[in-house]
Amino acid sequence: KAKKSGRGQHRFFDQSLNTTSVEKFAIEQRMPSAITDGEFILHYQPKIRLQDYRVVGLESLIRWQHPDHGLIFPLDFIEIAQETRLIVDLGAWVITSVCRQLDSWRTLGMDLVPVAVNVSPLELKTETFADRFLTILKQYDIPLDFIEIEVTENAFIDDREIVIRNLQALFDRGVKIYLDDFGTGFSSLDHIRYLPVNALKIDRSFVKEIRNSYHENPIVSSTIILAKKLNLTVVAEGVETNDQLISLRLAGCEQVQGYLFSRPVPEKKIQKFIISPIRRL
Ligand code: C2E
Ligand code: MG
Ligand code: MG
Ligand code: MG
Repeated sequence: KAKKSGRGQHRFFDQSLNTTSVEKFAIEQRMPSAITDGEFILHYQPKIRLQDYRVVGLESLIRWQHPDHGLIFPLDFIEIAQETRLIVDLGAWVITSVCRQLDSWRTLGMDLVPVAVNVSPLELKTETFADRFLTILKQYDIPLDFIEIEVTENAFIDDREIVIRNLQALFDRGVKIYLDDFGTGFSSLDHIRYLPVNALKIDRSFVKEIRNSYHENPIVSSTIILAKKLNLTVVAEGVETNDQLISLRLAGCEQVQGYLFSRPVPEKKIQKFIISPIRRL
C-alpha cells in the first residue's frame, strides 16, 4: 500500500485521503509501544555554510521504522502524536537520542557539529519543557550550544507566554533557536524582533520558486535582508538545484540545506560529512 508522495518519498498512508480514521486509530494504538520497542529512528541532514561549504550543523528528522510497513515519515504520525499528546514523550525521546548520538561521536573522537531538533508547539506549551531539556543535556554532559531547537511560527499563536518563557530560558543559556518554515505561518514582522530566536529558516516553498541562477525570488531576498538587519542567521531549506544555490548565494544567504547536498541519512552515513567540506564550486 506504499505510495509515492509528491516529495518522492514512500508514504505508507494514502495522502489524498489524509489518513483515514482506521489508519489513524492504528497509529494511535501502536505509538506508545513503538517508543519503548525502539521503532523510532533519527535521520540527519547537513546544514552547509556557503562561505566555505563546510557542514556547520545537522538537523535530526524522525522516522518510524515499522516492523510490517517499513519506513514511515513524520507527515503520517506527528499530527496524531500531537492530538494524543504523545508528542511530549516522543520529543523527549528525540532529545535523548540526539544527546546519545553526540556522546557516541564524541567517544569516537569525531569533530562535533551542533544538531538541531524539531520541537512541536505542544511540547513548548508544557510548563516544564525547558527544565526537562536542560536535565537531559546535563545527564549526557552535552554543551548547550550543541543542541539547537527548530520551532515554527505557529508555536506562538496561543499560550505564547509559556512558549516564550521556555524558549527564553534556553536562549539565555546559549541554546540556538531557529524559526522554521519562515514565511508560511503566523508571523507578524514586528514581533519577530521580540522573540528569542537566533536564526530564520526560509521555507522550501519559496526556494522552489527560484527557476534559474539569475532569478531572484522577492520573498527569499527580502527575508535574507530582514534577517541580516535583525542580526539573525539565515538558512534556506529545500535547495535542490545548482541554479537555486547560485541565486541564494547572490542574494547573500549564509547557509543551505537540501537534496542538492544530501537527503536526510542514517547516522552511519553522516559520519563522513562531519570531517571535511562536502562540495566546492
Ligand atoms: P522541517 O523541519 O521543515 O524539515 C524539512 C523537511 O524537508 C524534511 O521532511 C526533509 O526531509 C525535507 N527536505 C529536506 N531537503 C529537501 C529538499 O531538497 N527537497 C524536498 N522536497 N524536501 C526536502 P521530513 O523529514 O519528512 O519532515 C517533515 C516535517 O516533520 C519536518 O519539517 C518537521 O516539521 C517534522 N518533524 C520531523 N522530525 C521531527 C521531530 O523529531 N519532532 C517533531 N515535533 N517534528 C518533526
Ligand atoms: Mg526543521
Ligand atoms: Mg522547515
Ligand atoms: Mg516543514
